[in-house]
Amino acid sequence: MPEGHTIHRLAADYRERFGGRAVRVTSPQGKFSDAAALLDGTVLETTEAHGKHLFLGFGAGEWVHIHLGLFGKVTFGGAPVPPPTDTVRLRLAHDDAHVDLRGPTACALVTDPEKQAVHDRLGPDPLRDGDDPARAWRRVSRSRTTIAALLMDQKVIAGVGNVYRAEVLFRHGIDPYRAGKDVSETEWAAIWQDLVTLMREGVRTNRIDTVRPEHTPEAMGRPPRVDDHGGEVYVYRRAHLPCHICGGEIRTADLAARNLFWCPGCQRR
Ligand SMILES: [Zn+2]
Repeated sequence: MPEGHTIHRLAADYRERFGGRAVRVTSPQGKFSDAAALLDGTVLETTEAHGKHLFLGFGAGEWVHIHLGLFGKVTFGGAPVPPPTDTVRLRLAHDDAHVDLRGPTACALVTDPEKQAVHDRLGPDPLRDGDDPARAWRRVSRSRTTIAALLMDQKVIAGVGNVYRAEVLFRHGIDPYRAGKDVSETEWAAIWQDLVTLMREGVRTNRIDTVRPEHTPEAMGRPPRVDDHGGEVYVYRRAHLPCHICGGEIRTADLAARNLFWCPGCQRR
């Protein structure tokens, strides 16, 4: 499942390539045909992301609400626009470019109040300017649930996925099994600020890098990581490998149906 930085990046890409222009809107697969017909020929006014939810705003309070889920995929392309395959749920096109959405969990036309309802059930998002980390802190500080599970709970904080969760806990020396109520307010503030920085960098580079300058392959004289996720990380998918800082073995376990990775030497209960 893509993490929040990917969705914010998509919002920017849709806006850059299609914003402010009248677009042809179609649903070659047919599941979004009625809504596509309503929007066809109108201007894409704005785009927005909140956590893993993407919104395409077509003015007059009409939004396409998209959630990629596990299998959703967005593909941008140029002109000439190729004939669509029948797996394309939503295609936007103008004379110079097109973009296809396939396999999303959600793709629906929603009104302003319906969009607001989505925001209301999500926690603050480190990538949304002005979102308030105190809202998340109120839930974290009262919870007996592990901080690892809380970071993945989109109602608590929106946009953090498995990679940022593992990495931010490592960077702050916090054991993933520590209860939310045992995380201090100072630690939470530092986690939030770090997520803002790391995830902004993720939007910019379109990959997740979390190692500090002194722990890059160049600085440490070690070979770069080989993994289809790309990016230099401390613990994610590094089970049984030596920790870059203490040399101990990185551990893995199952938590809330997702793999957890951490260093017992560096992360404290
Ligand atoms: Zn370590």
